Amino acid sequence: MFQQFLKYGFYPCSLVGSVAAAIFMIKSGVPLLVVVSCMSLFFIVTCFSLELIYTENPEWRFDNQEFRSDILHAIFSNTIPTEVFRILFYGVIISLATKLDGVVGFTLWPHKWPMLLELLLAVLVIEFMSYWIHRLLHTVSFLWPIHALHHCSRNYYCLIGLRKHPVQVLITYGIRLTVLWLIGAPKEIMALYTVLASTNSMIQHTNIPMKFGFPSWIFATPEIHRWHHSKVINESNNNYGDILVIYDVLFGSRILPDNMSKLYHNGMGLPDGTKVDNSYWGHLKMPFVWKSIQPDSNQANK
Ligand SMILES: [Zn+2]
Repeated sequence: MFQQFLKYGFYPCSLVGSVAAAIFMIKSGVPLLVVVSCMSLFFIVTCFSLELIYTENPEWRFDNQEFRSDILHAIFSNTIPTEVFRILFYGVIISLATKLDGVVGFTLWPHKWPMLLELLLAVLVIEFMSYWIHRLLHTVSFLWPIHALHHCSRNYYCLIGLRKHPVQVLITYGIRLTVLWLIGAPKEIMALYTVLASTNSMIQHTNIPMKFGFPSWIFATPEIHRWHHSKVINESNNNYGDILVIYDVLFGSRILPDNMSKLYHNGMGLPDGTKVDNSYWGHLKMPFVWKSIQPDSNQANK
């Protein structure tokens, strides 16, 4: 019974539950940073525990070195860079801009809408940007080495969602924050989007059996996102959406083959022979030593 819930109910209940809990906390006056941190931590612990018990594919299990590096990514590649950026953005850039011309952003945002509708609007706007940023990270040769870190694991488990180069984190976060500020979105909506995106990302990368039908035409469900981590480039250069898959549908990059065993057989990660150093330092320097870790010169660029 519980396994059936995990397969069909865990993902939708988590998305709805995380947003509902975050709205409750925000309306109760809990600081936004605490809301985002609590929800992220809750889903990290939940997904990590569940996949240890209800593992879908034992061959995707993490090793200890990867685990240590991914914990460091959580702290030093994600949390600290985004917090420093956020403080600088709101504390320095915006106050400076205000002093110079007296204007803080534009007033396009529908502040009187119900919170859930505002969140839906933010998701549609940010996902459109995220889709194209992600697609460019895969298809522009000098950007791919920055993003390849997220794809370097031959294993597949929840903490891979946090394995991102700080340069990529800052680019993505910076663009999101700037655009939302320019259109006048409130900080509460940005926090709600962050909660939804981190919940989705954690479950997307979790190694527990999950299956969907129609929702995989709207959301970037776990079964959709797994193909994005395939070792086969024609498969991994698809399904770019973070939360939604509708832009993949719209721009012709959605795939969902029937046969999961094909993915098991071909495997996850970068092409065979890529010399990945799985220490945290090895991950950080990966974009800068990209050519030297390629299997041969023909595969130097994706
Ligand atoms: Zn990717």
